[in-house]
This record gives sequence, C-alpha cells and structure tokens, in this order.
Amino acid sequence: MSKKKQSYVFCVANQKGGVGKTTTTVNLAAALSSLKQKVLLIDLDPQGNATMGSGVDKNDLDLSVYQVLIGASTIDQSKYRSDAGNYDVLAANRELSGAEIDLVQIDKRELQLKKALEHCKTHYDFVLIDCPPTLSLLTLNGLAAAHGVIIPMQCEYFALEGLSDLVNTIKRVYRNINPGLELIGLLRVMFDGRITLQRQVSEQIEMHFGDKVFQTKIPRNVRLAEAPSHGMPGVIYDKSSRGAKAYMDFGKELIQRLKSAEK
Ligand code: ADP
Ligand code: MG
Repeated sequence: MSKKKQSYVFCVANQKGGVGKTTTTVNLAAALSSLKQKVLLIDLDPQGNATMGSGVDKNDLDLSVYQVLIGASTIDQSKYRSDAGNYDVLAANRELSGAEIDLVQIDKRELQLKKALEHCKTHYDFVLIDCPPTLSLLTLNGLAAAHGVIIPMQCEYFALEGLSDLVNTIKRVYRNINPGLELIGLLRVMFDGRITLQRQVSEQIEMHFGDKVFQTKIPRNVRLAEAPSHGMPGVIYDKSSRGAKAYMDFGKELIQRLKSAEK
C-alpha cells in the first residue's frame, strides 16, 4: 500500500449460490462501519438481496449499479445510504440482468466498474462487492475492479472441489485482466462444530490454504437469517447474537490482517 490513503476493494465471491456471500458482504460492511471505517457496498447481483438486506428498497430505485456499469451515471450520483448499517450502497435490482446485453456494445466491457470506482469522488476505506453466483460479465467487472477476493464457504463434502474451480477463475482473471488481484482469505460460514464432517472439512481447508483461512468462524445462527426481512444487517439487528459477534470479530480480524500486511 502506498502512503496516500487508498481504499481496499474486495469482492465477496463463490460460484455456488446460497453459501453466505450476501450475508457476509452486508454484515462485514456494517461491522467495518461500526469500527469507524467508511464503507461502500456494491450489489452486483440482480436479485438485489444485499440491497434489501441493507434496508434499501430495490423496487424503488432512481439509479443503481446498472446505470453505473453502462456509463450513464457515476457512483457518487447513484449511491444510497443504509441508515441501518451506516454505509453507502450502490444498489441493484432485476434491471441489472439486462446489463450483460447492453455491455456487449461497450469496449473493455469488463472494466466498467473499475473505471467508475476511479472516478468516484467520495473516499472509502473499504468497497465491498457482493457478486452473483456465476462467472458472468458482472462478476468479471467485480473481479477486475478489486484488490482481493474474500470467499465464504460452508464446510461440506464437496466444498474443496468447488473451491478449486474458483481459485482457477481467480488465477485466470489475475493473468488476463487484473494482475493486482489477490486471494484475501477463506471464511468458514454457517459453521457447526458439533458436526464431525464440518470439523474434518474445516481442518482440510486449513491444511490446503494455511494462513489464507480466517481464524474467525461464522456459526449458523438464526438471527443472521432473520435480519434481512427487517432490512437490517444481522450485526445491527441483534448485536448480542452469536452471529453478530462473529461478524464483528471477522471485521476486526480483517483490519488486523491488512495492518500487518502493510508493514
Ligand atoms: P448467497 O449470497 O451466497 O446466495 P446468502 O448470504 O443469501 O448466500 O445466504 C443463503 C441463505 O442462508 C440465506 O437465507 C441466509 O439468510 C442464510 N444464512 C447465511 N449465513 C447464515 C448463517 N451464518 N446462519 C444462518 N443462516 C445463514
Ligand atoms: Mg447473494
């Protein structure tokens, strides 16, 4: 990192659906914000779950990440505020699924988000991008704009197999479009240490990926699953829940790691 204050741009990605990407993005955004970091969350999934989970109504957007990607508006013009989570949101809804088609006509279409972030005038300490569960042009825009990838994963039988696909994808993006891209770390989510298989897979992951595995494990916790229907990150919805505490710990661990990497 240079001396000039830079933002960390991280994608939360995994090609599988339902593995906790959105829950991780929203709760990490809220956790970092309560640790005095200035955060922008970018929702790159047409489902708009991170938008709704931040308390922004995806059905009532004037501008969204869609207009930003096609070059029709800037991030500064298009962002919303998550009052619940105390961070900015570049929102998404179904309109975003059309972006793939509109982008076809644009030169360097995988670099649209990167370009938009370069022109963003607001300073953020962290930009967190919630990726869709596919390797689409949307995900490519996220990976091309990012310094690093955070991979949430469940400790299940096929977890490692799916992971090698994702790691290969990251390597390809690294070689072809973004030589700055790093694997920041793997986050074990929906973890239940009482289940033997989960403990075993968790150990295998540690063996394979060493210090790329975050120490914090996010437990399966119903309060995290309930929070989105209240338009709030779980970290805010029930601060005393195990899930909220774990995501706060994760935020602290991430900041700590980045600090030691800078030295
Ligand atoms: P993705 O974005 O990868 O599709 P989500 O974050 O939407 O995954 O999570 C999938 C489902 O699992 C959601 O219903 C969410 O509320 C639930 N969920 C995610 N993390 C946890 C957790 N730690 N404990 C309990 N439920 C969780
Ligand atoms: Mg999601």
